[in-house]
Amino acid sequence: MLVPTLLQGAFLFALGACVGSFVNVVAWRWPRRQGIVSPPSRCSTCGRGLRWWENVPLISWIALRGRCRTCGVRLGPGHLLVELGSASLFAGSFALLFAGPWQEPPGSDAWWWLRLGPWHAMPAFIAVLVLWGCLLAIALIDAETGFVPLPVTGLAIVVGLVAMTVQATAFRGGSGALAAGWPCGSPSPAWCAAGVGGLLGVIAAAVALQLGLVSRTFEAAGQDQDWTPARSRREVLKEVPFLLMPLIGMLLGHRFVTTGALAAEGPVWLALGASGLGLLVGAGSIWITRILGTLAFGREAMGLGDVHLMAAAGVVLGWRDSALVFLAAPFLALAWVAVSGGLAKWRGQPARELPYGPHLAMACVLVYLGRPWVVPAARVLFGIA
Ligand SMILES: [Zn+2]
Repeated sequence: MLVPTLLQGAFLFALGACVGSFVNVVAWRWPRRQGIVSPPSRCSTCGRGLRWWENVPLISWIALRGRCRTCGVRLGPGHLLVELGSASLFAGSFALLFAGPWQEPPGSDAWWWLRLGPWHAMPAFIAVLVLWGCLLAIALIDAETGFVPLPVTGLAIVVGLVAMTVQATAFRGGSGALAAGWPCGSPSPAWCAAGVGGLLGVIAAAVALQLGLVSRTFEAAGQDQDWTPARSRREVLKEVPFLLMPLIGMLLGHRFVTTGALAAEGPVWLALGASGLGLLVGAGSIWITRILGTLAFGREAMGLGDVHLMAAAGVVLGWRDSALVFLAAPFLALAWVAVSGGLAKWRGQPARELPYGPHLAMACVLVYLGRPWVVPAARVLFGIA
């Protein structure tokens, strides 16, 4: 048992390093509007194309000591840290989910992974790994540009919904696997229907936005200087009609089940319902904070990019972990301000400001992988979960 587990762990470490290497490429090229695949890898200073052996994750950086062979430019430790972080995250997720420390009582969400094992839980595990790769790219791009790349969040949402549905229908891992929990919470049929109804509401709202029935907001932000507090408050209220559509979808879904018009039982309802609720709670909590914050302070608070980020994370994390991320991320942001501010003062440099996206991404990883420790702590602190 031990040798195959170690081999699988080593495979995931290598896979994570390759994903980290690809994330490095995306995070460099995206803000510079370059193609992701088409120009082959090259030195960003002298432009020389890289040979295959200069492009091996982790190993090449160490062998070449982080320098270009031609022009000698230093690449800095950033690339190596991203590859190493991604490799550790993949191997660490495998170890935490499948190899033991999640000793929660049978029937809990954590027990689900242990019970199914890596082969039978493959689609759900792929959804987790794709989310980690996307969050890493989002955090790097947001930290550099202040923008969350929406195609990346969109990719994570689609992969997550498809993978969880495949997990529920084709891979459920033997009879009774669905009854024994679900990796992102097991809502009742009424709440599953609410989750699916909310997802349909989001699709309807997105179509309405495309057709111009719902207005885009803060379009002129950045160029326009005259965003007075009163104008910002009026502007953010234009986002309420979009939010009402998923809310109505949730209410209708819940109502259909409680009145007996709909059964909402079975694997597809569970997969889409649980992930849908995660998306709605994750994105909704950030969006409501944005609206209330803008009304309170009279200027745009919290970007819609963070709403997209939490929508993607919620599909995999489920509603409970999404709520915990929402509660935990501000503490990470405060800790960052304290630590980076202290370091900057000590070095006599201006403090480096970081947008909210990286903090949300970090909170997602900590809450999800730390679930056996986070959930009991949250139970004590907030009286939930
Ligand atoms: Zn070079």
